[in-house]
Amino acid sequence: MRRITLTVLLILICSLLGASNVFALPVSTVILDAGHGGYDPGAVSYLGDEPLLEKDLTLSLAFRVGDVLKKEGSLEVLYTRTDDSFISLEQRLELANSVFPGSNSSALFVSLHFNSSPVEDPNGFEVLVKEGPRVVPFITSDSPQWRVSRFVSSRLKVTQQQLNLENLELARSVMDSFSRTFPDLRSRGVKEQDIYVLNGSLWPSILFEGGFISNTTEYRFLSDPQWLHKAGQAIAEGILDYIE
Ligand SMILES: [Zn+2]
Repeated sequence: MRRITLTVLLILICSLLGASNVFALPVSTVILDAGHGGYDPGAVSYLGDEPLLEKDLTLSLAFRVGDVLKKEGSLEVLYTRTDDSFISLEQRLELANSVFPGSNSSALFVSLHFNSSPVEDPNGFEVLVKEGPRVVPFITSDSPQWRVSRFVSSRLKVTQQQLNLENLELARSVMDSFSRTFPDLRSRGVKEQDIYVLNGSLWPSILFEGGFISNTTEYRFLSDPQWLHKAGQAIAEGILDYIE
């Protein structure tokens, strides 16, 4: 009797340790989400002659990140929007989760935003991930077959923990790359936050906040297309560091 209990216990431990990590599959696809758009301008700064709109900055940044990633050759880059149109948060998430990256591949979801504050002081960039205890519904009643096949055999709790770890790793890679490129900018770190598009993402996901358009110094950077170009390069390199 004792031997049987021990055997069962051993099998349980082995299967737990060997639980496959669906996020360890090679990344084939990166979904870039330019925040806001259309009638939703996001944050607006009036520090210059013309208003500076977050929705324009996020779109330029997304294109730049995508261009650098595409140079890798093997990566597919998808955008939640490619023009100035309004896309709801639900649509963004639905789009990201409907992507089939291939049966032996995975995807990443990267949302791009900029910060704003009613006061001048706040500055710096930060990378947000979902809150650890948030449970992603990997399989829902209307999930397509590939999604069921991918997640059905995994233990929900283990998969959630694996996703949290991947989120953090992706966040740190992007944060480190950005810090290396812009050592004078303040890093506000990686933070867990309640964010709709991250809470439900099937893929490792982050939301990058690239500085405060309400801060005079950062406004100067953000309104300079050259700076934005370099920022896109830094984010893409962080994503590639994670993938490698
Ligand atoms: Zn935003």
